[in-house]
Amino acid sequence: MPTAIQQEPIRLPRTSESENLKKIRHTTSHVMAMAVQKLFPKAQVTIGPWTENGFYYDFDHPEPFTEKDLKAIKKEMIKIINQKLPVIRERVSRAEAKQRIEELGETYKLEILEGIEDPITLYHLGEQWWDLCAGPHVENTAEIDPKAFDLESVAGAYWRGDENNPQLQRIYGTAWETPEQLAEYKRRKEEALRRDHRKLGKELGLFIFSDSVGPGLPLWTPKGTVLRSQLEDFLKQEQLKRGYLPVVTPHIARVDLFKISGHWQNYQEDMFPMMAEDEQAAAAEQGFVLKPMNCPFHIQIYKSELRSYRDLPMRLAEFGTVYRYEQSGELGGLTRVRGFTVDDSHLFVTPEQLEDEFHSVVDLILSVFKSLQLTNFKARLSFRDPESDKYIGSDEVWEKAQNAIRHAVQTIGMEYFEAPGEAAFYGPKLDFIFEDVLEREWQLGTVQVDYNLPERFDLVYTAEDGSRQRPVMIHRAPFGSLERLIGILIEQYAGDFPLWLAPIQIRLLPVSDAQSDFVQELAAKMRSLSIRAEADTSRERLGKMIRNGEKQKIPVMAVVGAKELEENTLSIRTRAGGELGAIPVAEVIDKLKEAIASQSDF
Ligand SMILES: [Zn+2]
Ligand SMILES: [Zn+2]
Repeated sequence: MPTAIQQEPIRLPRTSESENLKKIRHTTSHVMAMAVQKLFPKAQVTIGPWTENGFYYDFDHPEPFTEKDLKAIKKEMIKIINQKLPVIRERVSRAEAKQRIEELGETYKLEILEGIEDPITLYHLGEQWWDLCAGPHVENTAEIDPKAFDLESVAGAYWRGDENNPQLQRIYGTAWETPEQLAEYKRRKEEALRRDHRKLGKELGLFIFSDSVGPGLPLWTPKGTVLRSQLEDFLKQEQLKRGYLPVVTPHIARVDLFKISGHWQNYQEDMFPMMAEDEQAAAAEQGFVLKPMNCPFHIQIYKSELRSYRDLPMRLAEFGTVYRYEQSGELGGLTRVRGFTVDDSHLFVTPEQLEDEFHSVVDLILSVFKSLQLTNFKARLSFRDPESDKYIGSDEVWEKAQNAIRHAVQTIGMEYFEAPGEAAFYGPKLDFIFEDVLEREWQLGTVQVDYNLPERFDLVYTAEDGSRQRPVMIHRAPFGSLERLIGILIEQYAGDFPLWLAPIQIRLLPVSDAQSDFVQELAAKMRSLSIRAEADTSRERLGKMIRNGEKQKIPVMAVVGAKELEENTLSIRTRAGGELGAIPVAEVIDKLKEAIASQSDF
């Protein structure tokens, strides 16, 4: 893969994994607050927690802080650190704390005091500054390495996250154990920016958003659609080989369907509101809804005939587009959207077939990941939270489904961890959590075992002895959703798609007008052979054409000048292998076809 990071990266612990980082970040945020109040006496402090990569602190200050202010604050912080101030914990009574805060005139602190439980502790930095805090902290500011922290940005934030409250100034900072860790963190931040799928999606012309269409509703441009179709076709082929049956279902259905499934009762806040024909229908809750999931539709197809044990397992598959009402604040790029396409399938199986089918689903998912070069993932068993009542179905059925998943994963020998509270409301899941080159985690494919929906929809099959039996359902989606997967792939590949996925696989560059007819005809010929080829018709100078092709991350570029035209060759340069020199046209075509078919480089 062309984009792998070469050197062995330094492992960066998250705050929640490191007691030491917790102390460092907590203390650094206090040092920052002290510096801010020293430089800006009008500033009031509010809250200042650690985050997984650093910390922030919210201040009430009449003017927004500027970049220049951040530099001054950082300088002041270094001074404070170098004063080697002891960090002293003091336990006080509530009344004492209140009195001291009132002396300072800090109104937010008073509110915070009301919300915290005993014991109340203050932390002093030397004798000059203190804050309400529960800790933990380092013992002396000298334990903070002045070369291992930085202030990152300022943003507006509302007190208690409520926009009716005063707007505060939030300063984000980061702090590490060593300057090397800080450098690695900054490198990754830059790399994340370079790989950002929202940025690359725009530059490579893969998808757009339109205010007129609405937030969280991506529009796929021609190049992005090629990418989508490639992924779809790839999985459809795999599924056909494994006995899946394709189906297509509508985007809306009567609300009653989702009452039977339980979505209406348990999932309504994630659904778009109901469409009713008139007020009467609305009052009677008789209307249509956009589907948030495909399951109830596939169930109707299963139910349309009496099934026999000989029909099972029945694997119905659809690239089904669903709609979920995500909060608008959460929408960003492709990883959280309001309309997305799930590579969905529902397997109806006899209880005896469950384990084998589960295995073959996992096997399919693993082979899909392999083709996509996604190698670094772990299995999360998403179980129900036994304390919560947001789930449907009896305890017994849940135990059965959870045990089936655990047992299957153990038999396969996959590494896994259990996550109570992460289940869907109707069943437990096996989720594949992928870690990308920047050690960020993403949820990809998922498999669910479900005894509940067959019960709710009264699904049956005729067993060998003629009795009516209840099938078990497996819900599965190796990609999760096309949108999310493509967002992740763009970042993982940094836009450098492998040849078989690349929207344009080869671009032909004519050195002068004399070769322009030839490259256009050759591009058309390649397209007729299912190679995604295009001719550069910009009439730019060659150097510019090559740069443009590189910017577009086109895997293969072929230069045609007078000599190539005469000898019927192409001068090839690839992103993976650099300059390969002149190669006969026929050979280039054969090599392209072979590389595409085998999902390898040219
Ligand atoms: Zn603290
Ligand atoms: Zn489903």
